[in-house]
Amino acid sequence: MKFDIVIIGGGLAGLTAGISLEEKGLSTAIVSTGHSSLHFNTGSFGLLGYDADRKPVASPADAISRLANNHPYVRTGMASLAPQAAQLLADAGITMAGSEAHNHLRISPTGIAAPAWLTLEGMATVENLRQQGVKRAAIVGIDGYLDFLPRFIASTLEKAGIAATVKSVTTDALRLMRKNESEMRAANISRILIGDRLDRLAEAINAAVKPGEADVILFPAVVGSENPDEYARLRRMSATPLYYCATPGASVPGMIIGRQLTSRYTRLGGMIFKGDSVVAGQFDGDRLTEVKTQNLGSDSLRADNFIFAAGSFFSHALEALPDRIVEPALGLDIDSPADRPELFGKDLFEPQPFMKAGIATDPALHAMRGGRPVANLYVAGAALAGADSLSEASGSGVAMTSALFISNAIAHK
Ligand SMILES: Cc1cc2nc3c(=O)[nH]c(=O)nc-3n(C[C@H](O)[C@H](O)[C@H](O)COP(=O)(O)OP(=O)(O)OC[C@H]3O[C@@H](n4cnc5c(N)ncnc54)[C@H](O)[C@@H]3O)c2cc1C
Repeated sequence: MKFDIVIIGGGLAGLTAGISLEEKGLSTAIVSTGHSSLHFNTGSFGLLGYDADRKPVASPADAISRLANNHPYVRTGMASLAPQAAQLLADAGITMAGSEAHNHLRISPTGIAAPAWLTLEGMATVENLRQQGVKRAAIVGIDGYLDFLPRFIASTLEKAGIAATVKSVTTDALRLMRKNESEMRAANISRILIGDRLDRLAEAINAAVKPGEADVILFPAVVGSENPDEYARLRRMSATPLYYCATPGASVPGMIIGRQLTSRYTRLGGMIFKGDSVVAGQFDGDRLTEVKTQNLGSDSLRADNFIFAAGSFFSHALEALPDRIVEPALGLDIDSPADRPELFGKDLFEPQPFMKAGIATDPALHAMRGGRPVANLYVAGAALAGADSLSEASGSGVAMTSALFISNAIAHK
């Protein structure tokens, strides 16, 4: 099978690249092993949340120029594509608030206020509560659901001058769920909170928080993974304005974003080889000519250009061996900030050097192999070296802007 571009990995970087290239009229295919980190995304995207000293960044647009020279934003200037990334999300039907000029404060799954670039509509942020003049919030949990930390959220709200009360609700369907073998986790709960069962939940919430008792309700984001319309429907049924708070683990807002992006990509004509993995590549001089996948057997995928968007250690695109880091599928060169054991800091809560390891690229983001750039193979997203998505809160920004940078480069070839 032959395409204009084959994309390895269907996370935020791969889907952004695929959508952008399909919009330009090019034929693309994505091969993707499994769930991407979007499945765990809180519903907020970071462009640059913290600087090198771990200080919160107020304006990513200003702070990016102070990053190290080997950071992908600085090497390529790709962060200027942030508004284009926000537009791509909007075109996919994903309404997010925020801008690259000023970070806002999302409420994290541990209840703290953390800087973010874009946040999914309907999720609570300190700014949207302040803008609406909220003085009293009711934080409503679910009986037996332990992945929600109302007291921590209350303490964050109190720092923002918002008084909070804590309540808990349940319904017959949720009570039954506590008795069966399904764990009370956000993704499982959202599978049962549909149709009539969602109506019963709205009734329970409206009974627990009477109109006028609070300016706003904060509720865990456990609605909408099967059908994003349900996410909006619960908000409409609530008598008091309702906002969702992020939860840990597999995360409903991230699933909604992933579902919408996938649907936009396939509607544009993109093809996804789901549950398949690229396991090897055929190189001819400085070009990659085809990739082999686990499921296609002796068949291969050929393309004029390829994008490696397979993520990092979390997605097993990079592997840490006892003596070195490797990229196992195509044998690409690794750019690492240090050798073992210096890759691992002793303090678990400090930035870990290994997070900045990634695939070596030239400034145009061509992958390096055997010390030379591969002319038609680009690297996007968490696979890139030089950024630490965790300590910088830059992962989504790097994923989307690198994918757009590459898509523009391919279109102008
Ligand atoms: C658990 C977790 C939660 C996060 N939460 C947030 C958040 O809330 N906000 C935020 O801004 N950032 C978050 N991040 C940062 C995240 O890294 C980036 O936001 C970004 O989503 C990374 O996207 P990616 O497409 O580069 O990689 P990934 O999301 O890792 O996607 C890579 C995809 O490639 C596939 N793949 C791997 N190897 C192969 C192969 N050989 N062949 C084919 N497919 C392959 C994987 O299965 C996966 O689907 C989180 C990261 C993690 C790990």
